[in-house]
Amino acid sequence: MYLIKSPLLLKWYYPSLIWNKSRTEKVIYLTFDDGPIPNVTDFVLKTLKAFNAKATFFCIGDNIIKHPEVFKTVINDGHAIGNHTFNHLKGWKTDDETYIANTLKCQSLTQTNLFRPPYGRIKKSQIKILESLALSSEFKAPNNFKPQTSSSQLQIVMWDVLSGDFDTNLTPEKCYQNVIKHTENGSIIVFHDSLKAFDRLEYALPRVLKYFTNKGFTFSTL
Ligand SMILES: [Zn+2]
Repeated sequence: MYLIKSPLLLKWYYPSLIWNKSRTEKVIYLTFDDGPIPNVTDFVLKTLKAFNAKATFFCIGDNIIKHPEVFKTVINDGHAIGNHTFNHLKGWKTDDETYIANTLKCQSLTQTNLFRPPYGRIKKSQIKILESLALSSEFKAPNNFKPQTSSSQLQIVMWDVLSGDFDTNLTPEKCYQNVIKHTENGSIIVFHDSLKAFDRLEYALPRVLKYFTNKGFTFSTL
């Protein structure tokens, strides 16, 4: 069971996390989790380019090691990179030491101030350690790393719209409708550049881009 729209209660419990951006401007923040992988990530890049859209990719370190050329293309296309741990660990089920070490292992590859916990599940203790590490500069993006945001502060990014593309019981059309129905100014939308999500992603992504472009929205990096 999962909710398409993030509930207020969660936002209240984790106030330091980022759930959405400014509601006053017609900007949408597309995010892609779990890549980079060949073909699927390539499809996303090609589709974004067709709409002149920028996005943020929360990468798994292990996939960066396996597919460095795909990772490089994401950066060269001007998108932002986020840390999504090295092995896609579930925070609630992982002790702090293991979780932080795995996140830092990914960080050595991503060099970013953006982090998204896999499954959106992270303990408050883990947030606290990551935030303190960020202050001691582990998470600061080096100046020569172009596609990053100008802020050097650690941002733990959640979302306010979950496309449900990972749900193999969902039709591609329903996945598309999920996004259309719940997205507003400043929404952070989650898609996955994964094989499992591809049937729904392939259908929904170009349609979402088209729908909101026609409504005067732009798509930006976090
Ligand atoms: Zn993930």
